[in-house]
Amino acid sequence: ATAAEENDVVVIGGGPGGYVAAIKAAQMGLKTTCIEKRGALGGTCLNVGCIPSKALLHSSHMYHEAKHAFPSHGVKFSQLEIDLPAMMAQKDKAVSGLTRGIEGLFKKNKVNYVKGFGKFVSPSEVSVDMLEGGNTVVKGKNIIIATGSDVKSLPGVTIDEKKIVSSTGALSLSEVPKKLVVIGAGYIGLEMGSVWGRLGSEVTVVEFAPDIVPTMDGEVRKQFQRMLEKQKMKFMLKTKVVGVDTSGDGVKLTVEPAAGGEQSTLEADVVLVSAGRVPFTAGLGLETIGVHADKAGRITVDHHFMTNVKGVYAIGDVIPGPMLAHKAEEDGVACVEFIAGKEGHVDYDKVPGVVYTHPEVASVGKTEEQVKALGVSYRVGKFPFLANSRAKAIDDAEGLVKILAEKESDKILGVHIMAPNAGELIHEAVLALQYGASSEDIARTCHAHPTMSEAVKEAAMATYDKPIHI
Ligand code: FAD
Repeated sequence: ATAAEENDVVVIGGGPGGYVAAIKAAQMGLKTTCIEKRGALGGTCLNVGCIPSKALLHSSHMYHEAKHAFPSHGVKFSQLEIDLPAMMAQKDKAVSGLTRGIEGLFKKNKVNYVKGFGKFVSPSEVSVDMLEGGNTVVKGKNIIIATGSDVKSLPGVTIDEKKIVSSTGALSLSEVPKKLVVIGAGYIGLEMGSVWGRLGSEVTVVEFAPDIVPTMDGEVRKQFQRMLEKQKMKFMLKTKVVGVDTSGDGVKLTVEPAAGGEQSTLEADVVLVSAGRVPFTAGLGLETIGVHADKAGRITVDHHFMTNVKGVYAIGDVIPGPMLAHKAEEDGVACVEFIAGKEGHVDYDKVPGVVYTHPEVASVGKTEEQVKALGVSYRVGKFPFLANSRAKAIDDAEGLVKILAEKESDKILGVHIMAPNAGELIHEAVLALQYGASSEDIARTCHAHPTMSEAVKEAAMATYDKPIHI
């Protein structure tokens, strides 16, 4: 389809929500155009989110391991150093390879790709200011808004991406800051704090709430925080930033207890603002066509991802729900299935969440706090990696598996894993939840030895019976 022809589906935004929706729509035989303003596909996730952060987490972990773990495995160096430009280049190579990969998928599936900024002029027409100059109007019977999210700013803290950075700036610092202050103890702050902490920064995390990662199971969170503290990450919880002074060489932050009280000063070379993300709809012309959003700016949609305007849909970070790439992808597929007149389905109770620190923390389903609040009778099965042979063999045995199951039926309600590769381990639990499995179902499933996954099986045994190895 050329831009001027009418499309079955037009997707505004080429992030994990938008590009997946576009490919799926084309696969279903719908004439599809995707509009993206950044000049590269993959959205926040691929360009300045999931992928570059995981590249740096891996590189910095390798350095940290080489420094702290290799000697005890009998691998010694006479010299070890960080080549930050090379580390950044490897990250950039991963990102550009993947963005080009999506362009290839667009070609393969015949998705028309329009590079530019899209703005509604009517519920079926998007005017695009093209990156190469000029303007074009893209028409569609159905239009999907997949414009994602942006960094939430803090009042009085101006991001310059040099001394005061967002996650985007923190992914491409030109040198390792001696002191890094992270504002906000969500997963992005902790991941980026880990990267720079491993490379040598002194990291202090300032958080307004009483806890880090508020969505995490409380017991797991406590252990997780202890782990991060062992890695020399400092936490100032229940603390708010009330002033920022960038006039000197570094940054001076004035902080005070969240409840009010005596102020103190924190010094930093770089400050990372990671206090959350907000839906991005600036300049999209939502008001022109009358699309409703809630107070937080999230576009409200019905069960079919349709907004209050017929034929206009929204998916991903720009609508309510967890702001995660895989959730955006699920939204995209389901939305297109509805457009094509089929059934789509996303089960928001079973979206896994992963914090990619070391160890990683992954979870699916309910936390113990949530189960308690529901008044459900439940059992808890736990198994520590200290008793897992593979974890001991590789000398990386910090963490645990925790399973919550309904007392009567043994049906699994939630699974929480802290382990080096928890983000991979969690998926047998996601599948178990998806199929309404009991903990006994997992326990009676043969798990290969020696693997970390055996800890999941043992925790399942501990839920309704006794584990073998502890
Ligand atoms: P986005 O990825 O934000 O994509 C929206 C796209 O729309 C953008 O490319 C934007 O340029 C484009 N756009 C916006 N307006 C217009 C317009 N008017 N015209 C044309 N184009 C427009 N999630 C995970 O699941 N796992 C992780 O490990 C993870 N790590 C992260 C790390 C960081 C540092 C950050 C910031 C985020 C991370 N996320 C992670 C979150 C993840 O990036 C988002 O949930 C995901 O990108 C949302 O996808 P989306 O398609 O809804 O929006």
